[in-house]
This record gives sequence, structure tokens and C-alpha cells, in this order.
Amino acid sequence: MTNVADLKQRAIATIDALRADLIQISATLYAHPETAFQEFQAAALLCQTLEAHGFTVERGAGGLETAFRAEARGSGDGPTIALLAEYDALPELGHACGHNLIAASAIGAGLAVRSVLEQLPGRVVVIGTPAEEGGGGKLILLEKGVFADVDAAMMVHPASYTMTARPSLASNRLTIEFTGKAAHAAAAPEDGINALEAVLLTFNNVNALRLHLKPDARVHGIITHGGTAANIIPDYAAAEFSVRAAQQSYAQEVLQRVVQCAEAGGMATGAQLKYTIKPGYAEIIPNPTLSRLFTENWRAIGVEVHDPRPNERMGSTDMGNVSQALPALHPYIAIAPDGTGGHTLEFLAAAISPAGQEALLNAAKAMAMTTIDLLSSPEMMQQAKQDFAASKAS
Ligand SMILES: [Zn+2]
Ligand SMILES: [Zn+2]
Repeated sequence: MTNVADLKQRAIATIDALRADLIQISATLYAHPETAFQEFQAAALLCQTLEAHGFTVERGAGGLETAFRAEARGSGDGPTIALLAEYDALPELGHACGHNLIAASAIGAGLAVRSVLEQLPGRVVVIGTPAEEGGGGKLILLEKGVFADVDAAMMVHPASYTMTARPSLASNRLTIEFTGKAAHAAAAPEDGINALEAVLLTFNNVNALRLHLKPDARVHGIITHGGTAANIIPDYAAAEFSVRAAQQSYAQEVLQRVVQCAEAGGMATGAQLKYTIKPGYAEIIPNPTLSRLFTENWRAIGVEVHDPRPNERMGSTDMGNVSQALPALHPYIAIAPDGTGGHTLEFLAAAISPAGQEALLNAAKAMAMTTIDLLSSPEMMQQAKQDFAASKAS
């Protein structure tokens, strides 16, 4: 009989021994930020590291050049636990979402589990999932069957508050384009059809709609094309919206209302509307068993873990789609003072700070410990699957 506490101690010792290497990985990614689907250097570095530590690495998993799947086998049949690494950065802002820390924590957890895997059944896989910030790498990997044999998946995300069970918002991307007719804006405006006015009306209509949306709805957009010169009636204008809500069903409903806002803008101006909807990120289905195990492990190594507060601020993640397909966990690690928002310069600084690096090591330890729990206890694995089945049925 394997002593689980002993295995966990050895896994923790592995992470402590790799401390400098893991911090270096996060710093290297930070120094070379790569955006969605362009994460070539990051993927190469992570694959090399996993290979050097005995993982069998499949590069370009699911047909995505910057995705990968690295696998290590224990002794005998058992569940497959996936540790997910995100490593895409934001345009302009670099690693202001701290995905460099996500990647390093997944590698740390993978190597730690690998170091005790001869004592455990089953497999641990580290899956490199590109393009979380728009692009939805995990949706593509799910579709291509990369998760087909995975029993449970986990990752951690940097935040300003440590908690294991916060849900996320379902989200959809909407692009609207209006085509009008160019004309001299002073000499012959009556000959023109103003595509920009149609976009402005869309925004105004959305603002009129806001009061009547449920509190969890979020509609936010930017104008991506607004014309070429002030003295020409714009014949082309475009905008992008993100439409979110706690449940995908309501997010879809709001999305339809926003499309109507755009249609009304087109009708009022005479501009032709064309719109495209990108399949969005689903909301996270929390898994109580995985949350409980993770919280216990985090607390065992001295991390203070909080419950989500009422009215917790939420974003969206393609991990939501993973959690709709299998038992999954997406906890948050504090790397910045409470209240610091992601995608800001403050958060960017936190992603390379000593506090961020400490958080990454603690996250790696808790993930390794939770993976050991799941591989060593068929009962806990079964319970996580039952939670998943129950949430899908409700
Ligand atoms: Zn982000
Ligand atoms: Zn993020």
C-alpha cells in the first residue's frame, strides 16, 4: 500500500528542488510574450523541459502548431489526469494575464507527479493549450479529441484573491460590419450612406438596452473601423462586441438582442449589415470534489484559501468548455493585492514579482498533490465523476 502523504512530500520536494528552473521558465515566457497561436518559443521551451524529464511529447497536438500533449505513465492501469498550461500573452500588454505563471505551474506539477509516478497507477498528461485570450485553443483541442481519454483536468489562473471554486461567464464574440456609400461629406452628403452612423447607433441602442438586462450580463465593444477621412462619408465601418452572462443560454439571448440593435442601426441609416458570431466560451461547471481536494492540499502547505465573495467579479475562459466535457478545476491564485484587475499594467508587474513566483510554486504543489489524490484513490476519482454527471443532469 502506497503512503499518499509520503508521495505528496516527495512531490513537494521535487518542486522545491526545481524552484529556480520553474521561476526561470516563467521569466523566459514573460520576457518573450507571444500572442494567440504564435506561441512558438513558449511551446518549444515547455516541450523540451517535459522531454528532458521523461515525458513523451506530442508536438502540434490537435493540429495546432503551438499546442502539445506530454504524457508519463505510472505502473498499471488507472485514470488519466491532465494539467493544463496556457502561455499566450496579450497584444501590446504582454503577460498582463499571468499565463507565464500558469505554464510554469503546470510544468512544475507535471514534473513533481512524474517523480513519484512509479508508485501510482494511471497517467499524467501536460496539455499545452494555446490562445486562451481569443482564439479558444481548448475548444479546438476538445473537438480534435485531445481530451478524449482524460478523466479530470486542472489548471490555475493568477488573480488578486486565492479561491478554488469561482465560476466564470459564458461569452460570445460578435463582429458587425456596415457597408454604406461614400460621398463628399460637405458637397454631396445626400448621396452618401453613412456606415459609421450605423455603428454609433448600434452602440447607442446597446446602451439603451443595458438597463433591461439581468445583472450578470456584460456587453462591451470597440469600433475597429470608423472611416478614412473626415470629409468623406464612411462607406465602411465595423465594431467588435463581447457578450457575456453567467449561463450560456442567457448569453445567447443577449447576443440576439445586440444583433437587433445593429439591425436597427442599419435600418435607420440604410447601411448593409453583415455580422459574424464566434463560438464563445462556456461557463465553468464547478466540481465540488476537485475543489475540496485542491483546497485541502493548498491549506496543507499553508496557503490561505477564500470562498468566492458574493458579486465576485468574473471573466470568461475556454476552460469553461473543458469543464462542460469532463470533471475540471480552475482555481485562482493571488499574485497581486486584492482588487488588482487582470489585463492591467499592475497585473503585468505582478506576473514577474516574487509574490507571483511564490504563488506559482504553491499552485504547482497543490496541483501535484491533487493529482496524487486522484491517481491513488479510485473512490475520489469516482466522486469527481459523479459530481460532473450530477451537474450535467441538473
Ligand atoms: Zn486574460
Ligand atoms: Zn488569463
